[in-house]
Parts: sequence; structure tokens; C-alpha cells
Amino acid sequence: MKSKAGINRTKTGQWRQATTLVRGGSFKSNLGEMSEALFMTSSFAYDSAESAVRRFEGEEEGFTYTRQGNPTTAMFENRMALLEGAEKAAATASGMAAMNAALLGLLKAGDHVVAARALFGSCRYMMDTLLPRYGIHTTIVDGTDTDAWFAAIRPETKLFFLESPANPTLEIIDIRAVAAIAHEAGLRLVVDNVFASPVIQKPLELGADIVCYSATKHIDGQGRTLGGVVLGSNAIIEDELGPFLRHTGPTLSPFNAWILLKSLETLELRVTAMCDRADYIAQALQHAGVSVRHPSLATFPQAELAASQMRRGGTVISFTLKGGERQAFEFLNALELIDISNNLGDSRSIAAHPWSTTHKALDESVREGMGISPGMIRLSVGLEDPLDLFDDLLQAYNKSIVYK
Ligand SMILES: *Cc1c(COP(=O)(O)O)cnc(C)c1O
Repeated sequence: MKSKAGINRTKTGQWRQATTLVRGGSFKSNLGEMSEALFMTSSFAYDSAESAVRRFEGEEEGFTYTRQGNPTTAMFENRMALLEGAEKAAATASGMAAMNAALLGLLKAGDHVVAARALFGSCRYMMDTLLPRYGIHTTIVDGTDTDAWFAAIRPETKLFFLESPANPTLEIIDIRAVAAIAHEAGLRLVVDNVFASPVIQKPLELGADIVCYSATKHIDGQGRTLGGVVLGSNAIIEDELGPFLRHTGPTLSPFNAWILLKSLETLELRVTAMCDRADYIAQALQHAGVSVRHPSLATFPQAELAASQMRRGGTVISFTLKGGERQAFEFLNALELIDISNNLGDSRSIAAHPWSTTHKALDESVREGMGISPGMIRLSVGLEDPLDLFDDLLQAYNKSIVYK
């Protein structure tokens, strides 16, 4: 079908995931390009003054200004919505812009939010510091305690917010159970699904109303660009969040949308291969006597719950070195292959020390309450050969013991 804007829509059938990731949601221009076109333009011209009026009124299909919408960004949003099984997706410039839109776009002064304690550092900062500044009250609960969610509900509660698995402890929250409590009370559940990625866990199928991503992580997965997405029903994403996003402008650059479209083509392949490596490394480290957490391990305290809502154990492992921060630093500094960095979901394996970096802004007692200790290392497993990765981890571990 050729629209008035000169764009041919490619048919989007009921494709399976791998096909959707390669072809879903894209359109071709009249030139028939095979690779999605990059519309690197801030605005769009109209054929006539009357056409401009119709576009502004929404009576004529087409674009006006990239803060309001862009064809390349729309292709990325369409593909993400198909992948997630959502009616609608809105792309943002970063993951935090997506989380911020889901919170500030839906809430107002006087509202109340209940959030799980184990959140990404900036999400926790929003709960503890930013939302209260705008008169939005927050209660932090142990997300694994289902009764605690129920007990925290007040007449003015509007949202539940959680992350599962959580960063960096990999703590799992029962999304079905928390969604049921939310819906019973007429609230919405927002899930930060960054750690699992859309390949491994589908929160909307488990009952969530809104899913947020940092596309910086697995979706790009090659360390190039920031990005974010918020997904849900048309009523939520278009009607409620649409005006907030269009008027406040956390817009994803079309260039970054184009990179992310290309990244989606390989998302399932990359995440599956990274999960294979993570499973192997978790087992091998455990065998070597290290205290490891990964949802694929039989020793993982919530292995059964993880298996009931995640297709795989995920790409991130955490482990704790008995010698605390001193040994953790010795270990990181001895790594020869694996980089020390705070990104995750990347094709390159990355190790981080959450206690002194990503979670340092939180009080010690809060970090401890979340299960983060000074000896904890978070490892995002990439696409390198798992034997090379294990060799590097083992030699660094042995050195960290010698120097202790
Ligand atoms: C990285 C991350 C975010 C924020 O995403 P940015 O793209 O860095 O803004 C939010 N939640 C989780 C779990 C993350 O890992």
C-alpha cells in the first residue's frame, strides 16, 4: 500500500520472532531500498498549505517534525511493538528517558507509587529523591515479598514499578502475582525488563501493563548508542504518554533508531549465544568454588520462579569474593580480556563493581538491604569464546587470592 507520504508499507503478518526481528514493522520508500532508509531530517515539507493543515489535524498520513515522529524511528517502534506483543511502542533517547516518561507521563502530584527495593540506581534515585520533589509519594518494598505489595497500597496509589531480574543481585520478582495484586486494586504495573531483554521474558504476557527498556543494553548490544523504549496498549502509550513525549522531547535520534533497527536483526541470535556462555561460566565458576548467582543454576534460590517466567537464565552473572572490596579490585585489575565497564548486554564481556560505582549513590544500609556487598562482581557475558572467558576469570581469581 502506498501512503500519501510516499512510503510503501511492507506487509507484517503473524510472523514468528526471528522473522519479526529481521523484517517486522519496516517500510520501503519508492526507491525499493533493501536496508531501511535513514531519514536524518528534523522536519518535513508539505505539498501545499492545505496539506500542512491536514497533517497538523491528523487527517492526512505523514510526518511533520521529528520530535512528533520520524519514519526511521517509527520502523524501530513498530518492530519493538511486534517483538514485545504490545499494541504500541514509543522510542526515547535513553533508557532513563523511557522510565521517566512511564513515571512522570502517568503520574501527578498527590499520587503514590510502590516500587521494589532492588532497582537500577537511577530508577531508585527517581523513587527516593525526584518523584517526592514533585509531590509524588513512594513506598519501597521487598519486591519478592508478594504480601508487601498488597500492604503498601493506599487510596492514592497509581502504579507498581519493578525490575526482574534485578541489577545486580538477579533477585526475581513474581510478575504474575504482583500484576494480579495491581489489577485487583485498579493499579498499573510497570516492568523495567532490561536485564532479561525481550528475547527471554515477555512481561505483558505475564500481566504487566507497561514495559520499559534501555535499548543501550542488549538491543544495541554493541556498545554504540543509547536508546530507550516504552511499550503497552494504544490507550497508554499513544493517548496518555504520547502528549508528554511529544511536548517534552526525549526524542531518539533517527540515526540511533536506524542503528537499533539493524541491531534487532541479530538480537535473538546474540542473546541466545550469550545465555549459552553465561550458563557455562556460572557452572564453571561454581565448580571452582566461587559463590555465584545465576538463574540457570540449581543452587539459585529462586530457580523455579525464574524458570516459570524466563525462557533462559539471562546474560548477567553475579558472584561474591570473600575478600570484599580489596579482592574485588584485585580481581578486576587482573582481568586481561574482560573489560571493566558499567554497560551490559554487550557483545564484549564486561565486569563491574556495583558497590563502588553503579550503586554507590545509595546509602550502605540500602545497598546491603538490596543484597549488594563490597565483594560482589557483576559480569555481563558477551559473545567471546566461553573457554577464553573462563581462562581470564580463573587467572584473575587466582591472582586476587595471591595478593590478598
Ligand atoms: C541501563 C539501565 C537503565 C537505564 O538505561 P540508559 O539507557 O542508561 O538510560 C535502566 N534500567 C536498567 C535495569 C538498566 O540496566
